[in-house]
Amino acid sequence: MQFNRFLFTLAFGWLAIALPGQDNSVTRPPIIDIHVHALPVSPAFTSALCPWFLTDMPGGDPNDPAPAFFTDDCDDPLPAAANDEVMQEEVLRRIREMNMTMVAFGAPTILHKWYDDAPAGRIIPGIGIDPNMPVDNFRDSLSSGFYKVVAEVAPQYQGLSPSDSIFTPYFAVAEELNIPVGIHMGTGGNGVANLTSPNYRASLGNPLLLEEMLARHPKLKIWVMHAGYPLVDELIALMGAHAYVYLDISGFIWSYPLAEVNYVIEKLVRAGFGKRIMYGTDFLFWPRMFETSIGVIEDADYLSEERKRDILFHNAARFFRMEGGDFDWPEE
Ligand SMILES: [Zn+2]
Repeated sequence: MQFNRFLFTLAFGWLAIALPGQDNSVTRPPIIDIHVHALPVSPAFTSALCPWFLTDMPGGDPNDPAPAFFTDDCDDPLPAAANDEVMQEEVLRRIREMNMTMVAFGAPTILHKWYDDAPAGRIIPGIGIDPNMPVDNFRDSLSSGFYKVVAEVAPQYQGLSPSDSIFTPYFAVAEELNIPVGIHMGTGGNGVANLTSPNYRASLGNPLLLEEMLARHPKLKIWVMHAGYPLVDELIALMGAHAYVYLDISGFIWSYPLAEVNYVIEKLVRAGFGKRIMYGTDFLFWPRMFETSIGVIEDADYLSEERKRDILFHNAARFFRMEGGDFDWPEE
């Protein structure tokens, strides 16, 4: 009898473990990626990309040909998506297989296609701020119900501070409608001011420039994109003074040297902000960028399992006020 019960337990124990694996019904814990660009594939970005390529930033001479903005000279570069269809397929496959929800923004046509074809609730659309857009149109867009987020707002590339009064009416609308805003602060890549964006100013990526804007909009909920890297100490000062500000770790997570990336994330946790760090990729054209960047968090030996889940899921769910809300979040 004892023996039979042992066999019974063994058999069912085996079934319980083996069956879910056999029908592929085991799901990964959910991930929220709050920084995904939904863009048409660009002829300028068809080559592969080496993650952490900014490990080497040699100088140059303004009279010589411009240096490359990124490189494909490494063991296992990430291939670019060949066209818009492949891009969409790759993004939606990761939503399904990696149990992801994405805050996505960019070209409206691409964004609407992703939204329509993704499982319900897994693409959360965002809209940027174009100071040429009449404020009433911006309000109408936000009131339509399609857009849940304002992002990516990137005054730095235009040579403007986020506290410039040109943005005040737009931030006032987001504040009134209770919509979170993501603001680009920090790096734009090696040589950004020379190579791609002549109006870009490193000094305008200082997170402390957000203070006047926050004072004007006390109910506005913002997150600082890219952790304001490399001005992380300034971000720590800002977040210490402003309790509702969160950050994302996108962009620098796949471009700057991996040791530096881990140093920054660990520093933010050590400074006490483990509950305000949100995972973001800054996804552009290279689909494997998702698993490459998520792997940084999953492999971080300085983070507890609980802290990894905070960064990959819970902090964003809390920030976007979506826990227990309208959104059909996947179960943990
Ligand atoms: Zn950005």
